Amino acid sequence: MKTAADIIGQIHSGLESDKELIEKAYNFAAQAHDGHKRYSGEPYMVHISNVGFKLAAMGMGPRTVAAGLLHDTIEDTPVTTLDIKREFGDEILFLVEGVTKLSSVRYYGTDRHNESLRKLFVATSQDIRVLIIKLNDRLHNMETLSHVPPEKQLRIARETLEIYVPIAHRLGMGKIRKELEDLAFPYVYPAEYKRVIEVLEKKNGKYNETLERERKVLQKRLADSGLLDFHTSFRVKGLFSLYHKLKRKEWDIAVVYDLLAMRVVVTSVEDCYRTLGIIHELWRPLPGRMKDYIAFPKPNGYKSLHTTVTTQNETILEIQIRTKDMHQESEFGIASHLMYKQPVVTAGASSKFANLIPSLFRPFSRRAAVDEKIKEDSAVPDKDKIPTWIKQIGTHSTKDSNSEEDFISDMRDDFFSNRIFVFTPIGDVVDLPVGATPVDFAFAIHSEIGNHMAGVKVNKKLVQFDTALHNGDIVEIETKKSAKPTKKWLDFAKTSVAKRHIRSTLEAQIN
Ligand code: MN
Repeated sequence: MKTAADIIGQIHSGLESDKELIEKAYNFAAQAHDGHKRYSGEPYMVHISNVGFKLAAMGMGPRTVAAGLLHDTIEDTPVTTLDIKREFGDEILFLVEGVTKLSSVRYYGTDRHNESLRKLFVATSQDIRVLIIKLNDRLHNMETLSHVPPEKQLRIARETLEIYVPIAHRLGMGKIRKELEDLAFPYVYPAEYKRVIEVLEKKNGKYNETLERERKVLQKRLADSGLLDFHTSFRVKGLFSLYHKLKRKEWDIAVVYDLLAMRVVVTSVEDCYRTLGIIHELWRPLPGRMKDYIAFPKPNGYKSLHTTVTTQNETILEIQIRTKDMHQESEFGIASHLMYKQPVVTAGASSKFANLIPSLFRPFSRRAAVDEKIKEDSAVPDKDKIPTWIKQIGTHSTKDSNSEEDFISDMRDDFFSNRIFVFTPIGDVVDLPVGATPVDFAFAIHSEIGNHMAGVKVNKKLVQFDTALHNGDIVEIETKKSAKPTKKWLDFAKTSVAKRHIRSTLEAQIN
């Protein structure tokens, strides 16, 4: 189990008060969850501390980490919102409550409403930090899914693929997306998973050894060419994304050119192009495979140079060249704007010259307290660094957006604030304007339901027809043949569909 000290060891801040906060949240959670067990039989704190650790390790601030440690207290223990508020204040309470609310958003297995569900999910969270906590919570739950009763495994894994993976993707969080989809893959598509493994085994590649060998060749050449500061790493393609590619390529793994990839992370765009030149001199590029995503970024903002080469050992490698900023952006997406520190570039060794250039490639640096201003936890990121795709999220907004508002509130205001998403009892999602009532809901489902609405339950409780609905509400309409709309309904119906139907029914009654 991760200890409070392990987690504190990961945070960027050197402030005593931040360490105390994390220690306090850790102890508070340990006490609240005392006696609770996971399905695995392990103490519940194994889960809690792991989520806190993941958040700290990815560079989130102390309040986000503390909220991560407290994320299951309100839902699963006698701890109340008042307790959290008293002990930890409003900001942490807001985050913990946000995560708690998200747990009521469930995947019901109706494929056609995935997009609404994702919107509901994001709308319910409001603060992007809530989503980041939730994604790490789900990541640890997926890592331990084998202990969960089999009948629950499939639902959780499908929910992961249908809801969490697309959210991580949308937020540009490539690293967690890959981890989540590869963990869910064998549960959701067991036969396909087996087939991918078989294809890989038939190819019989000792991928890691091959990659390590080629990496040494590349490192030497880059250093010999006078490149001062670079970092290399490699990866084998994720199984789930390999599966999708194999489907497109008629299961011929020989034409999957990005099965093995090498990454070179450098310090400037200029060095990216220089590195590309050095690599094309070292290894023979495959024609037509060069992609300049720096000059032409992908729609989700991804930037890198890609090329595919054949090495002297006949290994086909995709090479991805990027700056450290681009790398961080591709791994952590929106979260990278909230981070305190540069996270570690995975599985690599930096060049022998790295020490000459301080501040670069120093993993898990804890120097910030000394030579860097401490960022606010609720970061207001550098506006110029906000990728275009995030700015574009709110393109339907008529609001003048060249103000200094940070993107968290931009997302909240522009993207979701005008709509709510509510459920039918069988889990279908209905998309309505803010302020909509059960009458709007009923007519959105079907005019006959609206025209004969006799009663309504929201979250299983009887309510008045003019009750404002909220995100995530489950709405159940009772109909009676004799029931009819009244003039009063026009006062609280919000949608034009509902108003039109009410008016025409009223007119029909008079005539
Ligand atoms: Mn949890």
